[in-house]
Formats: sequence, C-alpha cells, structure tokens
Amino acid sequence: MRSLCLWALTLAIVLPASAQDTLTVGSAAAARGMKASGWLDVPAAADPAVRIPVSVVHGTRPGPVLALVAGTHGVEYTSVIALPRVLKRLDPARMTGSVILVHMANPPGFYGRRVYYGPDGLNQNRVYPGKADGSVSERIAYAITKSVIDQATHVIDMHCGDGNESLRPYSYWDLTGNQSVDAQSREMSFAFGLGHIVVGRDMPKDAAKSVYTTNTALTRGKPAITVESGGMSLTDEASVAAQEAGALSVVRHLGIQADAPSARVDKVTWYDKSEVLRAPAEGVWYPAVEKTQMVQAGALIGTLRDPFGATLAEIRAPFAGEMLYVVATPPAGKGEPLGMVAQVAASEPAR
Ligand SMILES: [Zn+2]
Repeated sequence: MRSLCLWALTLAIVLPASAQDTLTVGSAAAARGMKASGWLDVPAAADPAVRIPVSVVHGTRPGPVLALVAGTHGVEYTSVIALPRVLKRLDPARMTGSVILVHMANPPGFYGRRVYYGPDGLNQNRVYPGKADGSVSERIAYAITKSVIDQATHVIDMHCGDGNESLRPYSYWDLTGNQSVDAQSREMSFAFGLGHIVVGRDMPKDAAKSVYTTNTALTRGKPAITVESGGMSLTDEASVAAQEAGALSVVRHLGIQADAPSARVDKVTWYDKSEVLRAPAEGVWYPAVEKTQMVQAGALIGTLRDPFGATLAEIRAPFAGEMLYVVATPPAGKGEPLGMVAQVAASEPAR
C-alpha cells in the first residue's frame, strides 16, 4: 500500500493543474478519477437547518458536468431510489466529465411525507433560484443553484407524480429561444428515453426569477430537462428502472461514460399544448378518467363534491388530448391540481 501512496503522490505532483482539480459540493469533494459523498449544508434561519445528501463523481478527464437532481418534491420517491443505483454504475476512472448527484433535494418534504409543499408552505419547484435568507424551501433552492447548477453544464430534474398523482412517464422540453441550448435539451430528452415529451413555451426568461429547477439551468444557458416517471408514492421497479436507465443514458449521450447503457428512444410523441386542471374550491375529488386516457374537448375529467356528496364543480377537458396524470386520491385544496391534459401534436421518429 505504501508504494501505491507514493505513486499517487508522484502523480499529484506531475499532472497538470487541470487534471488535479477537485469537484466539491458541500462536504463531498472528489479529486479527478474519484467519487465522494457528503452533505450540502443549508444553514438555519427562521426555520431549522437542513442537510442535503450529495455525491460527486469526478472523471479522470475533464468534460461535461451533469447534475442529477432527485426528490425535489417530498413524496416523489422513484428518483431517490434510482440515484444510488446510478452512483454505483458510474466509474470515474473511465469518465470524461463529471456527475453531481443530489440524492434528495427536499429532506423536510421527504421525511415529513409532504405532498406539494414544504413545512414553510412553499413548493420547492416554484422558488428558484432561491434566497440565502429565505424560508427553508428558498434556502434549499439557493444552495442547489449555487453549489450544483452553477457548477454543472447540463441538468436533469427528476420527478414523478406526487404522492396523490397517477402519472404516465413523460418529460418536459422547455424552449428558451436559444437554438443551441434548445437543441441540446431536446437531444437529452431523446437520450433519457421517455418517448412522450411536453413542449414548454412559456418558461420565465429572467435568471433572477427562474422559478423552476430546470429553468434555473436554462436561463443560465445550460441545457436541461425535467423528467417524470412513477407516482402515487410508489417505488415500482419499472418507474425506478426508467429513472436509472435514463440518467445513465444521458451520461453516455454526453460522452461522459461511453460504456453506460443507452435508453435513447427512436420514436417520440410530442405534446405542444398542455394544461393542469385545478380545483376551483376545496373539496372531495371523484376522478372519472385514468392516466393515458384520451379525452375529447368537454369530456368529464371528474367531479368535485363537498363532504356531504353534493356537486361543487364538474371538471371538464378544455381541449382534446391525453391525460398525462390524474389526481387519484380524494383531497383537493383550492387551486391544487386535479389532472393534466396534453394535446398530441405528432408521433414521429426521434431526430
Ligand atoms: Zn414533482
């Protein structure tokens, strides 16, 4: 072992600076050719401190830096279960570039089993780029912006249906108007392997008010996608495997690890218009449709009733399309999602 240490010491002295640098996120610090795990500390302010579990895998050779963000919403588990499997498959000795893994972006949501909102009442994916002195969701967003997104060249925000959402797998390709960024994001979505893609056209363009995790990367000129696989607080193998395979496939696509398996799709269904249907009042939700169901304009999506069973509102499809997700449990707060309908624009080869 001693000779190995001497060998490592010699290497450290001989190699140029670019090959010696260290990738650091919180207490996770990896020299080139190494991987490390640790914690990104979010200091206490008006509410308690949080520690975000992170890993860094720093390839032997410099290249793209892909950030994988899991568990932005507290009861979306498939990505949280997938990332340790991705970590195991990454071999920094064979990598040209690096991967940052945020294993759980929202620990208060996860450990508190909180659907949609953190303990501060905020949606973790609506507060980016965050605030250093804000409430806990804002401080987490700030820490991830500064320590993860700012260091990355590409970002994937990994979601599924929340604890109450029955969801078909799909991804979001959000357009920025920057043709190079948009083309690279589209290629990432093909590589991730979910063959159903929602085109987003109205993301905020101001980097200081980026709102979403993915949009924080996009407004900083970095290709990024949001992916959705799984839901209903489940960790079914098909949904977890799709997250794992998708992340590794983008690692391969970016040339970071050439022998990672590809999950690239060769056919894609595009949705060019989508709408989240929301509860006009607090009530008890009775869905009438299921995920993947095709609906006509005006079709009944479900009925919102009061606790005695009287109808408060009938929710109907605003246009013909496919149900990408349906809230499948009864509670509905005013303004909360009940489902999402998306209009199919085309099914065509992925190119
Ligand atoms: Zn989510």
